[in-house]
Amino acid sequence: MYKLKGRRFWEVPCRGRMTWGWRKLLAIRSLIRPFLWSSIGNGAQTNIWSDMWCDHCPLSSFISPRRISNAGFHLQSTVAELVSHSGEWSWPIAWYDLFPVLIYIQVSMFNDRQDRLIWKDLDGNSRHFSSWEVWNNIRHRENLVPWVNMVWFKHYIPRHSFHMWLVIRNKLKTQDRLSVWEAGSATNLNLMCCPLCCYDRDSRNHLFFECSFALEVWNNIKAWTAMESVNGTWADIMSWMTQNSNMQMPENIISRLVLSAASYFVWQERNNRLFSKNQRTAMVIAREIIQTVRLRMLTFQFKWRPGLRRLLEKWQIPSGNMEIDPG
Ligand SMILES: [Zn+2]
Repeated sequence: MYKLKGRRFWEVPCRGRMTWGWRKLLAIRSLIRPFLWSSIGNGAQTNIWSDMWCDHCPLSSFISPRRISNAGFHLQSTVAELVSHSGEWSWPIAWYDLFPVLIYIQVSMFNDRQDRLIWKDLDGNSRHFSSWEVWNNIRHRENLVPWVNMVWFKHYIPRHSFHMWLVIRNKLKTQDRLSVWEAGSATNLNLMCCPLCCYDRDSRNHLFFECSFALEVWNNIKAWTAMESVNGTWADIMSWMTQNSNMQMPENIISRLVLSAASYFVWQERNNRLFSKNQRTAMVIAREIIQTVRLRMLTFQFKWRPGLRRLLEKWQIPSGNMEIDPG
């Protein structure tokens, strides 16, 4: 654990000349302090007042420095120093009336080893210290959104999923949104039209997949998914995904991959037509989507289940990609 001049880093005052790294570390002290616990060995390295070593710590949160001092203790007293020779806490009996919670703090069972710093997660479980564990514990948390598994799942294709995240949050720079941002600029908004079908301005719901071009793409790929009965409206697709994206069946994972890829390639085609002269047909894009998902599936190891062989044949995936092949 980091130490500076013999003190643990949360005991160091943040002042004077120090490096950028130290200043940043000191600035997050209060954030990480609740996760750093002391596992008591001989009790000689743990501050009884300010360290986290029992469920009611830190004791300094309810016992003031003045009261500690008046009782004859130091602010630097260790856990070991507060245990008498007879194995009882040596703080004043009167403190039990003032702070009844002290009744529940057991006298530590000391051993020969030194006190050890450990990391406890949000649930109070000891964890191996790692930068991932720290980040996962201190990061800002929002409630889980119902579409989380639709975007982030084990087999996702990163650039497709990131794009899907933008689509769901309606953050793409579609023409309906630009018209709000760029009102007053030289752009003639009245001339804007969907580059795919040349009809009206494009929007999230138009591109996925109400647009006649995008709908043709969707109609050519949905037979490869478990969404064959879902029409091409964004609301219906989201409704199906919200109900089904928790399932781990191969057809379900493939549906998510195909949908993410479709949103990515349709948007790519839209931009190609807007900013260059390259044009592909809906059939070509549909083939690219299926080919991209197939390449991803080639990296899977499928668990055998009824119907899997037919699915793999449809996608031209070798049977060697099945974990258990009963023949
Ligand atoms: Zn269109």
